[in-house]
Amino acid sequence: MKEKTVAIVTDIQGDFTTAKNGVLAAPDTDETFLAKVADATAVLRKHGVVIYGTQDWHPAGHISFAVNHPGRTPFETIEIDCRTQVLWPPHCIQDTEGAEIIIDSDLFENIVRKGHNPRFDSYSGFQDDGGIETDMNDLLKAGGFTKVIVYGIATDYCVKATAIDAHIRGYKVIVIEGLSKGITPDSTASALKEMEEKGIVIIDEIDPAKIDAM
Ligand SMILES: [Zn+2]
Repeated sequence: MKEKTVAIVTDIQGDFTTAKNGVLAAPDTDETFLAKVADATAVLRKHGVVIYGTQDWHPAGHISFAVNHPGRTPFETIEIDCRTQVLWPPHCIQDTEGAEIIIDSDLFENIVRKGHNPRFDSYSGFQDDGGIETDMNDLLKAGGFTKVIVYGIATDYCVKATAIDAHIRGYKVIVIEGLSKGITPDSTASALKEMEEKGIVIIDEIDPAKIDAM
């Protein structure tokens, strides 16, 4: 029997894309990239893969925003309660245009929001830095999924964290590098290496037959 496969398309939101002049845009997230992601997602869907999305969804007072830490600037790293937190420009604030998912919403069966707790950041679609789970794992378990494909923005943050958390929870995980963009080249290269070392399969483009065979 064919394994049930879900694709988790991470954080395709205005604030993370150059296409929308996002405040925290990953390089090369232009209209061409968005069209490629949308087309590939439609192909997977046609092939029987169920499509989930994640959506970064912060309150204005979120801990990850540099403006909420007087004297700090974006991209600095600070220690909070023994956790390392990268500080970001304010982004993906709930109910703002920048937080909207900008590929066709009809593609998605489910959108899982993350990062709504002001005290904890949440790169992973499965849980935040405080260990509080989203609905993701329960939804995937209820759906009988065993294989998880992950791609989107950003390779070195939310794609990586979501893929690793899926791997830890026992799913077979495939990351599609060509449908993902990272914030910096160095952290993207090390994220891909780290995922591969954990046993996550990295492929460049979608290939439904190859994905079925994994
Ligand atoms: Zn965020």
